[in-house]
Amino acid sequence: MKTEKYIQLIQQRIIQTIDEWTSQTVVEEQEIHRFFHNLKGTSGTLGLVEIEKFSESKEHLFAEKSDKTFSRTEWSEHLFPLKSMITPVQAKVELLNHSNVNDVYLKTSQDSLNDHKRVLVIDDDVEFVTYVKEVLEKSDYQVSIALTAERGLKLFYQWKPCLLLLDIVLPDQSGMEVLLQIVEKAKLEHIPIMMVSGNFTVENQINAYRSGAMDFLAKPFDVDLLTALIDNRFMMKMDWDRSITLDELTGAFNRKHFNHVIKQQIDAFNHKKDLFSLVMLDLDYFKHVNDEYGHLKGDEVLQAFAATAREATAGKGIFCRYGGEEFALILPHLDSIGAASVVDKLRKPFNSIKFQAGEETFQVTFSSGIAQLAENNSQPEKWIEQADHALYSAKRAGRNQTIVYSTDMQEKKSEALLNLVVVDDDPLIRDILISRFSDWRPTTHTKVNAFGFEDGKTFLSSEWYRDGEKYIILLDGSMPELDGLDVLRELRESYPEQQLLIVMLTARNQKEDIIQALEIGADDYVVKPFHMQELMLRIERLASRMMND
Ligand code: GH3
Ligand code: MG
Ligand code: MG
Repeated sequence: MKTEKYIQLIQQRIIQTIDEWTSQTVVEEQEIHRFFHNLKGTSGTLGLVEIEKFSESKEHLFAEKSDKTFSRTEWSEHLFPLKSMITPVQAKVELLNHSNVNDVYLKTSQDSLNDHKRVLVIDDDVEFVTYVKEVLEKSDYQVSIALTAERGLKLFYQWKPCLLLLDIVLPDQSGMEVLLQIVEKAKLEHIPIMMVSGNFTVENQINAYRSGAMDFLAKPFDVDLLTALIDNRFMMKMDWDRSITLDELTGAFNRKHFNHVIKQQIDAFNHKKDLFSLVMLDLDYFKHVNDEYGHLKGDEVLQAFAATAREATAGKGIFCRYGGEEFALILPHLDSIGAASVVDKLRKPFNSIKFQAGEETFQVTFSSGIAQLAENNSQPEKWIEQADHALYSAKRAGRNQTIVYSTDMQEKKSEALLNLVVVDDDPLIRDILISRFSDWRPTTHTKVNAFGFEDGKTFLSSEWYRDGEKYIILLDGSMPELDGLDVLRELRESYPEQQLLIVMLTARNQKEDIIQALEIGADDYVVKPFHMQELMLRIERLASRMMND
């Protein structure tokens, strides 16, 4: 370890400071504080115990924030003893002043934009930061240095470090102020922030942790400790970064990463005509696996599917879990024919896996749909929809197969209809609900037909029901003629259960009614007076459940 060099630098710094201050008429008190404060930290780290103890005793004599100034006779008695503590090794080290230190590190920082082991050190103690830089660079870190808060903030945004060492006492702003400005962004990007300070009062540490710092390192510290800590935090960050793009259960990329990659691919197509294909894959009769063998077995099947797919598509594409038992595969540079042959390589190995459930074994198949990007400036949604269309054609055609999207599929897909019936004797509620639901589209392919009745009797005796259509019925609990619960009972007795979802609208004080309604078979209830938004939310949830069945 070339500690010698840094000891020389410290000596130079002391002599330089004394010279500089001697040429001034007065020196600011806070500047003197900062001098001793920094000297304490660096000398401690370098093992210069005498200077460290001395600086520590002096630091407290000068206020950190003050407008006071000191004349030469006033400050010199505090600084001159330092001269006797430095061994006169005549240093031939070139002088480092603030401006060229900045230049040197700016250059390195520009060169390493692509590398991710980047540590930013914001600290005004030149000897200390130079030392830390050298130590960390031995462990392959790129280190950028900022001697001021302003420069530090700039580098933080431009250079995008993966780790930050932040001093508390800085010339232009306090490190705590810097922390507050960047902590939100640092959290979003999982950038650990370590405060480094000679001022490690409990209060300071609490403040730092409460404001979002991850660690608080007291200066002076052991360099091996620093390296170990930085290594540890760096690994942690890498794990974080990895985990936020991966689906936990299957290890496939997650939906978030999928969205990111698909946008990238569309961009590449727009700019370079770099074609690619999207495959949506869905396990066949997967509900049956869950029902028959349990959800844990289901999970095992999902994991096996993902593992097989990753293996079959390694180096060719990005395999993602789109949601549930639906997966997406993005295949750069491949047209739909190329994509189909990749999917083919997955089908056989997956279909032949024999899953064991007690005595029984079973096998699972999957269906897939392919869409090749064919036009500029597409939205990801449009394209996902095309692959989805193809996937559902594959399902309809008998499953366990791949179908490529073609434009005539669009026409074949008929629009689904959802009837929304409001049965309520309050005309105002009826009107509001009907008009609200009339122009609502629960999914891109579902149209809503909303209509109402003023009481249960009129409703039941009308010809409201058409075989095969789906209904969501909002049913007022108390109505003249026929009570809401009676209507509910009649609906559940005389109509196919899966075609009707029934929501009861009841008054707050009718708890008994709610319980009874659920017993008879209401799917949900809303308490009057209700918030339109809450009602919409519930209805949306029910509609998506119904339309996806
Ligand atoms: P189809 O062939 O038409 O795709 O029928 P299916 O039964 O596979 O499709 P459906 O979409 O009706 O059912 C998917 C099921 O997947 C419903 C859901 O409970 C189950 N599922 C979703 N995510 C998970 C999961 O993480 N683990 C398990 N075990 N099951 C899941
Ligand atoms: Mg399925
Ligand atoms: Mg599904």
